[in-house]
Amino acid sequence: MTAQTGSVETRSFQAEVSKLLHIVANSLYSEREVFLRELISNAADACDRLRYLSLTDPDLIRGDPEFAIRLAASADACTVTVSDNGVGMNEADLHENLGTIARSGTGAFLENLSGDEKQDVGLIGQFGVGFYSAFMVASEVEVLTRRAGDETAWIWRSDGLGSYTVAPSEKAGRGTVITLHLKEDAAEFLEGARLRSIVKTYSDHIAVPIRLASDDSDETVNEASALWTRPRGDITEQQYTEFYRHVSRSFDEPWQTIHWRAEGRYEYSALLFVPSAATTELYDPERRNRLRLYVKRVFITDDCKGLVPEWLRFMRGIIDCEDLPLNVSRELLQKNPMLTAISGAVTRRVLTELGSRAKDDPEQYAGFWDRFGPVLKEGLYGFDSEHRDTLLQLVRFRTSTRDGLVSLAEYVEAMKDGQEHIFYITGESHDAVSNSPHLEGFAARGVEVLLLSDPVDDFWISSMFEGYEGKQFSSVTRGTAELDAIAPEETPDEEGADSQEKSESDDVAPLIASIRLALGDAVKDVRASVRLTDSAVCLIADEGDMDMNLERILRQHKHVHEASPRVLEINPGHRLIKGLARRIEQGESGSEIEDAAFLLLDQARIMDGEPVADVRAFASRLSRVMELGYTAPTSR
Ligand code: ADP
Repeated sequence: MTAQTGSVETRSFQAEVSKLLHIVANSLYSEREVFLRELISNAADACDRLRYLSLTDPDLIRGDPEFAIRLAASADACTVTVSDNGVGMNEADLHENLGTIARSGTGAFLENLSGDEKQDVGLIGQFGVGFYSAFMVASEVEVLTRRAGDETAWIWRSDGLGSYTVAPSEKAGRGTVITLHLKEDAAEFLEGARLRSIVKTYSDHIAVPIRLASDDSDETVNEASALWTRPRGDITEQQYTEFYRHVSRSFDEPWQTIHWRAEGRYEYSALLFVPSAATTELYDPERRNRLRLYVKRVFITDDCKGLVPEWLRFMRGIIDCEDLPLNVSRELLQKNPMLTAISGAVTRRVLTELGSRAKDDPEQYAGFWDRFGPVLKEGLYGFDSEHRDTLLQLVRFRTSTRDGLVSLAEYVEAMKDGQEHIFYITGESHDAVSNSPHLEGFAARGVEVLLLSDPVDDFWISSMFEGYEGKQFSSVTRGTAELDAIAPEETPDEEGADSQEKSESDDVAPLIASIRLALGDAVKDVRASVRLTDSAVCLIADEGDMDMNLERILRQHKHVHEASPRVLEINPGHRLIKGLARRIEQGESGSEIEDAAFLLLDQARIMDGEPVADVRAFASRLSRVMELGYTAPTSR
């Protein structure tokens, strides 16, 4: 909604913002002091952005080259102001930035809100509401701002209740002054000591000086040097955490902090974090990394393709290079060979750190793996296979025989005598794969199977031509399972099972021929199974054919249009199969065998999570077979 009165324009907030503001204004959030951290964080970014622009257009900062953030409180007016001489905003920026909320994850965040104030306040703490957090302490907020290089200033005003106004105004220099008219219960923020301690707690890491104006002086309250340039021993845990929150715009704790300085051929500093919570934009199609690139302390971009590989896009933090040219465009920078070398070194370092964490702290690593493992696994395939061997040390799996996560080294260690391959199954969910009939024969022999249910799994595993330590990966839903070579687990009542199996396979040969005849093109072949012990049937991909789950994924994405025919395996030891074999022996043929054949096929499809081929035919076959059972005289 837009309304114009003179030159003052009134607009409604975007619906999401209104919703957010409502919660913010009414919350009794105990840590509402964080409003200051948010405003300072924005001010510092505004200075960073202008510093970058001034590299190519020095006029933008002529006459006022020193960046600073200023805090002032006025007890008389009951206001706190946060000013910066950063890039400022023009009219369009104001509407875009302070009328909407574009931060990723907002939708999900708002959906999670329960309406229960206590819980929602907790969520705000985790999500962070940026600029809008000002309304936790203020009943009215004014933003007076002038974009660097512009003549006109603008003033934005709102009481945070649904609408805001924007009008032309006057301002001496560039930058932004945010005035908070404090609520009655927020008078504590008028005290210099309180403001000073908040800055120390949350914003000490900010590289721009933060000056606190009091009656007689103007003191700088923060350290005002880039955090990553300080020696590690001088940086507290809390400073690292607050810096992480500033650069990542998130509100959790870092799960891992990696801070080092590289000297030698290329000089750079890196301060990187692994978050402790996954964010929704991880699976955005653009897969961009969120690291900030600095050159000699000057912020260049937070969108530098190739700074780290896409599969490290969950990392947050900064890389500050000494030797990159400052005055080159972002696009050219990305192609700079020095950056490629640094990217390789950073990647190796991060993987090494993850490796140590996996070794020293497997439980914590399991949490990390659940959050970011699916992203990391993307590094296992494609052109970027340079780090494959290291990544193979870092991957973890759920398996059919153990609780918890298992590494490939542990898997190989536990392989059975006669087992040549690393067996795996892929599918849509953990439940689907762990209940799959394909696992039965492996379970009977105590053979461990990797249970893979991330969409990325089918892609990397089908590109693992070199295997792991000389062992090839083999899908349990494909080809002739090499189970014969592995002895079944010894259980007393299964003695002599081998010889029994042989004769069973012979017994089902005529049945197999009949099923093959009945199913025709609907299957590629029908075979006796060694992989089944409990279920009657399953479908497998023939040797050389595409794995079934991979094909399913490709079909969903329309890369493959037709399902390829599969091999139907039947379990010679199953009562139903034995019964059918007997019927064939007794000379039965025709529609009853055909019904049974199709029902078995459909059963196998259902177990695989596939729809039955022809619902009508399925229903009438099932009814016919059930009729036979239910209309026969009962044995009681
Ligand atoms: P975020 O900082 O996470 O993007 P905010 O709601 O805090 O979200 O701020 C929204 C946008 O408003 C910022 O991205 C920035 O473009 C703009 N902004 C906020 N404060 C300032 C400021 N002091 N100077 C210039 N732009 C600002």
